[in-house]
Amino acid sequence: MQPLVIENIGTLATMDGTGPHGLGLVHDAVVVCAAGGIDHVGARGSCARPAGAVVVDAHGGAVLPGLIDCHTHALFLGDRCDEFARRARGETYAQIAQAGGGIRSTMKAVRAASVDELVDGVRPRLRRMRARGVTTVEIKSGYGLSVDDELKMLRALRQLQGEEESIHIEPTLLAAHAIPPEEETATSWTTRIIAELLPQVVAENLATACDVFVEQGAFSVDDARRLLGAASDRGLKTRVHAEQLSWQGGARLAAEISALSAGHLEHITDDDARALADAGVVCEVLSLAQVFLKSQRAIPGRKLKDAGCVVAVATDFNPGTAMSCDLALAAGLAVTQSGLFAEEALQAITTGGAQALGLQDRGVIARGKRADLLVIDAVNPLALVYRWGEDLTRAVVVGGRLALGQMS
Ligand SMILES: [Zn+2]
Repeated sequence: MQPLVIENIGTLATMDGTGPHGLGLVHDAVVVCAAGGIDHVGARGSCARPAGAVVVDAHGGAVLPGLIDCHTHALFLGDRCDEFARRARGETYAQIAQAGGGIRSTMKAVRAASVDELVDGVRPRLRRMRARGVTTVEIKSGYGLSVDDELKMLRALRQLQGEEESIHIEPTLLAAHAIPPEEETATSWTTRIIAELLPQVVAENLATACDVFVEQGAFSVDDARRLLGAASDRGLKTRVHAEQLSWQGGARLAAEISALSAGHLEHITDDDARALADAGVVCEVLSLAQVFLKSQRAIPGRKLKDAGCVVAVATDFNPGTAMSCDLALAAGLAVTQSGLFAEEALQAITTGGAQALGLQDRGVIARGKRADLLVIDAVNPLALVYRWGEDLTRAVVVGGRLALGQMS
């Protein structure tokens, strides 16, 4: 692999925790990448240009770590635009689900598809994410809802990960997303996941984490404790969808088992926030979903930060409740809806995202880290969370390779 140099960087946001608000700013900087990693970070002229290097001119713009979307359901097929229109006319999510819509309509489309069809469906979404600077994305299963169809989803993710152009994918098993129509109860499906699905997922190394949707009508805290205990015993990281629509105790469970992350958290209490902080659970603020489901209360991002939690912002990209993979927009919304400071929102889609995925090799621009970088057409890195919906991407580097943008 050729070395790569980004020159003429107006503002480098290393996100290394130093300097004002921890953004680690370096002005008039250069970054050198070699063999997929970051080899040198410094002021202009601090390092000779390596022979044969790919040179990227930042034209005085800002450079940040590649963005990390740590919570998505991006592997889906089918169209639910009609549901969006129906909800706008006043139908509720529950009414639509009862009429065969909701997760089950996506489930039918996913069950009917082959691995290749799933891969073809997701590939353009990954390109769109990359075009907006995302270099690592977590993607959950959870629309197959049978042993074979959940495995099929995870195999599709593995196939995508093998493609040279792909951004990095962290696959999560979310079989406990909804109760399959063939299953009697959430508890019986939980038992089947533990007995039949988990061993296969681990044997084929198809997922790095296991997640569960704790909610009324979905999975109880007891189901979740049993499932995540079994997953943890088999070496998987654990995550929880908690307190989104009502308080169920999912956040407290995440703290009890020291889960890696907990997402949504609209209905947490002050005690929950303290428990999450004490246990080191990374809290995912999913602002697009909160706004998309127009009736929901704001996710208490400020409360989480003030309690001492590490916060990540993610898109929750999914066809039912957050039909957008615009991570920068999600971060902007986390500022206005959830009280994060702009700098915290930027941390939440870089270092916070890396922590939510347990990946120590990214989220920061420093020697030895993975060379995932985003060059934007703005001098101030905070423009990313301020200029909503604008495409600021000038170049994207994934694993030391120029994935998007021009060589100079
Ligand atoms: Zn989710």
